[in-house]
Amino acid sequence: MSEWASRMSGIVDGHVHPGGPDTVAALLSLCEATGIDRMGLVAIQNPEAGAGLPGALYAKALHPERFYVFAGLNHAGIRGHDPIHASSNWDRVPESLSLAEQAEAFVAMGCDGIKMIEGKPTSRQRMDVPVTDPYFADYWSRVEELGLPIVWHVNDPEEFWDPEKTPGWAKERNWGYGPQDVQKEELYAEVDETLRRHPKLKVIFAHFYFLSADLPRATRFLDEHPNVCFDLAPGVEMLYNISRDPEAGREFFIRHASRIVFGTDLSAGMSNEPGVYRAGIVFRWLESDDEFRMPDGADFLLGPPEDGIVRGLSLPDDALTAIYRGNLTRLAGPEPKPLNVPRVIEECNRLASIAAALSGKPAADTEAAQVAQRLAQ
Ligand SMILES: [Zn+2]
Repeated sequence: MSEWASRMSGIVDGHVHPGGPDTVAALLSLCEATGIDRMGLVAIQNPEAGAGLPGALYAKALHPERFYVFAGLNHAGIRGHDPIHASSNWDRVPESLSLAEQAEAFVAMGCDGIKMIEGKPTSRQRMDVPVTDPYFADYWSRVEELGLPIVWHVNDPEEFWDPEKTPGWAKERNWGYGPQDVQKEELYAEVDETLRRHPKLKVIFAHFYFLSADLPRATRFLDEHPNVCFDLAPGVEMLYNISRDPEAGREFFIRHASRIVFGTDLSAGMSNEPGVYRAGIVFRWLESDDEFRMPDGADFLLGPPEDGIVRGLSLPDDALTAIYRGNLTRLAGPEPKPLNVPRVIEECNRLASIAAALSGKPAADTEAAQVAQRLAQ
């Protein structure tokens, strides 16, 4: 394999990581090279750097028809716990908003949804607050009322808890966990409780909710929670797991075609060649009946070719249309929402001053301040 293009058009990728304001051209170039028409930018915030969300908003400001923005939360204001990107300066952030207020601010700015990483064990290492904690209570109620879709990363592959089985590329990122860390079933139980309290939440669980090794359980979960979906951003283990029984995989995908959202985990920092490989692997898995391995030029997180064989699912066009476009546009709207630029500038300035309070560095140096300044011109 070298390059593999989709036979479909109008593809929306629900899981792309944005970069700073200077990476917008790289995102457009990835669209062009991969044949992806629109991108959902999942914008995880780094409160200390004032980064993560502003770059995504800037991309949407320049190309409003092209980019959906799923905005990540800023935990700088949390009281009584160390915030994400631990800092002892949390009591010096007077401009912080509650999580519910942040959700409202996202809507006011014209964001299309929310990105959550709270539920990835590394995130829990930084901020040991379960999503069932009172800290999140008003937020969940507000998001449920607003009907905002959430792209939510919960858990990781089970191999990451077993040092013998953790892949080298994951170890290098410190994605290996032990008995001192939160356990996989604890994280699932917290999600179950959250969905029990807030059954109307519209969640797209990233990376197939890490249930690809157990399709009967994945089916039960989807059947019990009619408002949730899974995305297909690799997690290369997802392709290998489902390839063990491609017939069962195909049946699952056809039966649940309205609950599966295409995603690649492309990122703005990625050059076109690995980007084309990454998207092509997912296209080829969904569309062909080929047996193939990861190509040599694939990015680090897909692992080496010898790790396994992928068997194509050969899905029919109506299932592909739902997965490539219909499901995300049903949840987030047929077009990305229009951006309210004055509100974006205001929010970026607020994020810049939070970053300055946390880091002690000048607000003007942050991505947030740079985006505010460019948009004000
Ligand atoms: Zn991702």
